[in-house]
Amino acid sequence: MRNIVLFGPPGAGKGTQSEFLVNHYGLVHLSTGDVFRFNIKNGTQLGKLAQSYMDQGKLVPDEVTISMLKAEVEKSPEAKGFIFDGFPRTTAQAEALDAFLSERDDSIEAMVALEVPEDELKSRLLARAETSGRADDADPDVIQNRINVYNAETAPVADFYRVAGKFKAVNGLGTIEEITERLVEAIDA
Ligand code: AMP
Repeated sequence: MRNIVLFGPPGAGKGTQSEFLVNHYGLVHLSTGDVFRFNIKNGTQLGKLAQSYMDQGKLVPDEVTISMLKAEVEKSPEAKGFIFDGFPRTTAQAEALDAFLSERDDSIEAMVALEVPEDELKSRLLARAETSGRADDADPDVIQNRINVYNAETAPVADFYRVAGKFKAVNGLGTIEEITERLVEAIDA
């Protein structure tokens, strides 16, 4: 299997780029944020729990997120691999993903990280709010909170993959096509 982690702060372009990468590599896109939003829309227990965290720009607890992710992976037994988008977001999630994949004789091939300056992230998220309908994109305080949580809890996850020799940084500024090209080059290198 080809399992790729697409990493980066909120607003870096992970969702947009995932669309191109799943087509290019024939992989399954697994966005934990999308799964949470689907559950919120459908009024499930998981959705109700997740919403209280998402509205504040906080992370949904690891235990909940990890078991949800495992269930999602198991829904696609025929997958040639996954693009993990928005997961792992903590070192505990990265460790759990590694353990889960190795039970299946599988592993993460690479983490590709989109690098975008903070000012650009904020303006992208506010612009996205116009069309995304996402409350967490529309409120500057929630955006700041998401960026702070990223810096404190998520950025260290890069080290987990760096130590394993799987980390690749990609410049996340430019046109969508330019960034896709850089990602493909990094993944294929
Ligand atoms: P995203 O769509 O990736 O921007 O995620 C939106 C929100 O969903 C985040 O701000 C978190 O509240 C929650 N979320 C998504 N993925 C995770 C994760 N891996 N761990 C914890 N919370 C998550």
